[in-house]
Amino acid sequence: MLVFGVPVALSYPWLAYGTWPASLCFEGIGVVSCVVMLVAIRRRRPQRPLMWYLLLAGMALSVTGDAVYDYLENVAHIDPYPGWADLFYLSAYPVSIAGLGTMVLRRTRGRDRVGMIDAWILSTALALPAWSFWVRPISMGDHAGLADQLVSLAYPVLDVLLITLTVRSATTPGALRLRTNQLLVLAQVTRLLPDVTYSIAQLAGVEIGYLDSGWLLTYLLTAAAALHPRMADVDKPATGDEVTLTMPRLTLLTVASLLAPAILAAQGVFQHGRVDWAAVAIGSAVLFLLVVARMKLLLDQMHRLARQMQGLAHHDGLTGVPNRRAWDDRLNRELAKARRAGHPVVVGMIDLDFFKKFNDEYGHPAGDLLLKEAAAAWTGQLRDEDLLARYGGEEFGIVLAGRDVDEATAIVERLRAVSPRGQTFSAGLAVFDGSESADELVSRADRALYRAKATGRDRTVCDDPQALTDEVSIAV
Ligand code: GH3
Ligand code: MG
Ligand code: MG
Repeated sequence: MLVFGVPVALSYPWLAYGTWPASLCFEGIGVVSCVVMLVAIRRRRPQRPLMWYLLLAGMALSVTGDAVYDYLENVAHIDPYPGWADLFYLSAYPVSIAGLGTMVLRRTRGRDRVGMIDAWILSTALALPAWSFWVRPISMGDHAGLADQLVSLAYPVLDVLLITLTVRSATTPGALRLRTNQLLVLAQVTRLLPDVTYSIAQLAGVEIGYLDSGWLLTYLLTAAAALHPRMADVDKPATGDEVTLTMPRLTLLTVASLLAPAILAAQGVFQHGRVDWAAVAIGSAVLFLLVVARMKLLLDQMHRLARQMQGLAHHDGLTGVPNRRAWDDRLNRELAKARRAGHPVVVGMIDLDFFKKFNDEYGHPAGDLLLKEAAAAWTGQLRDEDLLARYGGEEFGIVLAGRDVDEATAIVERLRAVSPRGQTFSAGLAVFDGSESADELVSRADRALYRAKATGRDRTVCDDPQALTDEVSIAV
């Protein structure tokens, strides 16, 4: 389609304007593009064809506008502007905009706020020069009548809206990775560039050729987008991509934000101080608020990432329970509190018995699974205030704040009772003496654990500074 169509579209300006080969070329490309698009939609059967039909309807309206324009000018010999052709051209805009809008809504499911703000920043920035150098001069220019004025104003306003939607469709996460979407965006660019150039050239009273090629390319590119094998994926919600502030995006947003002061300066220098102060003030204020909103979203994103990092840094990757780092933090905090308040704290070290043998017999993955199951089963036996952490390897630590030695022993026995697959463990408990350091307390629990191992495993040994001898509880 593009291989044949693009050379024809590009050679169009060399055809004698107003002759039948030129008309055939112009309207022919439009009609063929519409038909090809219709066939493509029917063949490819997208799940939700609405956006494609809207884009097709927009294109069909434009093509009808072309035919009416051609008829008025070359057959009826009437000045076609403003006239019936504009009715079709102008109604093509909202339909195309609705098509692109439907696609954007589906892709983002209304949730891509970052992309939306970026699109608003760019659009506001573009709207400002569009207003100052384009819409306003048109509104103040000579017009044959109200209809002429309204039609002349409608084009730039609708063009700015179309630019907004095009920018928005290009800034949704992962949008430009799809060839079909690249073609759709390019189609709008080839439409908008000649639109804007034409309008500004008219303002300046200059005639520019070659613009028709752009409009023809829009037809061809839109039809080619519908022909693409992945056309049905164009409105599929993006998965997992979070919009990040990449360097090109940051540059674009910076340039966009600087447009308002640039316009002010340009007007100051070139219009001898005749400044469109209201537009620049409103535009700058809107841009400023949008940039602040963008900053807020960026901060939210950073906080979310920081929380995720915090979670990862303090949790064990295999079992999901707090890790050694979390254990150290929490133990120090609990001991500081206990030193002030005087409440009891018991720490325990739990080590699976003969776990190496388990691994050797059933394999490492089975060992991993057992560690996960044990951690989950034990966590289920504890209150939120108690801490179970993976100390390292097949060793776990517990911090039981506000629990006395009997309660702590009972808790460890509960853990023993729910250990999965009959796996036994030995535990060493140490009761906080009210002044020692965390290291000293853990060393005592560790020594108690070794005594539990040495005296036969599958038991708990408790080192209580108040008691004369170790308390040993053996599983029954
Ligand atoms: P003891 O009763 O004396 O504690 O005997 P043990 O075999 O449990 O002790 P040892 O320290 O000799 O071996 C600990 C084993 O724990 C060795 C290692 O293969 C296993 N282990 C440590 N971390 C992991 C892990 O993340 N996954 C698995 N599957 N095994 C682990
Ligand atoms: Mg062990
Ligand atoms: Mg061990």
